[in-house]
Amino acid sequence: MKVFFKTYGCQMNVRDSEIMKGYLIEAGHEIVNTLKGADVVVMNTCAVREKSENKAYSLIGRLKKSGMKVGVTGCVAQITAKNLKKRGADFVLGPRALKSIVDAVEGKKEVDLSDSITEIDHDLLLGRNHGHHAWVNIIAGCDKFCTYCIVPYTRGREISRPMVEVIEEVKRLAESGHNQITFLGQNVDSYGKDLEGGASLAELLKSACGVEGIERFWFLTSYPSDISDELIETVAQHPKISRNFHLPPQSGSNSVLRRMNRRYSVEEYIELIKRIRSNVSDATIGGDIIVGFPGETDEDFEQTLSLVEEIRYIRLNVAPYSPRPGTVATRFYKDDISMQVKKERMAKLSKLQHGIMLELNEKLVGRDVEIMVEGRTKNECYGRTIDNRMVFFEGDVTEGEMVKVNVKRATAGPLYAELLEKVLKVVK
Ligand code: SF4
Repeated sequence: MKVFFKTYGCQMNVRDSEIMKGYLIEAGHEIVNTLKGADVVVMNTCAVREKSENKAYSLIGRLKKSGMKVGVTGCVAQITAKNLKKRGADFVLGPRALKSIVDAVEGKKEVDLSDSITEIDHDLLLGRNHGHHAWVNIIAGCDKFCTYCIVPYTRGREISRPMVEVIEEVKRLAESGHNQITFLGQNVDSYGKDLEGGASLAELLKSACGVEGIERFWFLTSYPSDISDELIETVAQHPKISRNFHLPPQSGSNSVLRRMNRRYSVEEYIELIKRIRSNVSDATIGGDIIVGFPGETDEDFEQTLSLVEEIRYIRLNVAPYSPRPGTVATRFYKDDISMQVKKERMAKLSKLQHGIMLELNEKLVGRDVEIMVEGRTKNECYGRTIDNRMVFFEGDVTEGEMVKVNVKRATAGPLYAELLEKVLKVVK
């Protein structure tokens, strides 16, 4: 059968889609890139934002009218399976039931919300989207229970993959021509705490750096209070590990953080960033902020602005709070900040962040930087620096090559540069 995937949400979902595609290709099905001509559409959904959930519902309606078979997977599937079936979904699979995709597409299974996450075959290379950059799940689920978040209820508790298994996967990815890897999890800094004998993200990265052929390692996403000194030292010592720490503060106000059940204070967060910067001199920091959490006062928001001013993020995702059914925040806190105020606060933050990013990027103008090529638009190639800045340039290069460029122009988004030389040729 010809199967089309529509993937919403975070990188975990993208990787889950890759895994399901791998199973389908292995079973003899074809993955197609457009809706036209598809027999089956799989919507891999996200329940973190209300919009993605609504998008899924409206897409089911549209597709069912055109007679297509429609399946829903991911977080929305886990929490609203009954509704989805009622609205016409042919099958519904939870985010820990990826293995059932073949049975579901072949009409042998309609609903599976069970947990077979530890049985996933991560070596199915067939479904991977990117030629040289592979995303490797190292930990599933989350134990943090932030009050606004549905993930611990949809993806379940943390389960780390054994380190030996992850390293074997890294070796096989290197053999098959990948040279850039992102270790993935809802909270990668918790990696290994549940494993017998213990393990840590730092140990995993150290060991992975010894695998020949992989030139860059990234890790995503981190929880601020779980970052260890060992991890910071490991990043400092290993030039192949990204210098970018994505550390979502979510708010700059301690009272908001407490209501969010984030397990750190603003002061501890700032102290952590100082520790990172004093050990990794070229570190950049990324973050996420929720604006308009219930009870967020003007003063709370001013504290968030001060935090952003102080930390100087290289990238910052800002989202308005939206109550998600089934979360503690929805049950106990009234969504009392109007959308108008949320929008005004978002605009203020975005303006501040725009200026900061421009200033940080302008410091690179005139300098030579190394970038890993990730693709090309019609006229230009693009890639990322090891501290996670996007760079565009003209040249005859291939995805997966490492090149040196001279930065000519900065914006608050990407940098624009001139190609100087190839540092590392592509290996496949
Ligand atoms: S750390 Fe918090 S926001 Fe992140 S996945 Fe876990 S519960 Fe959700």
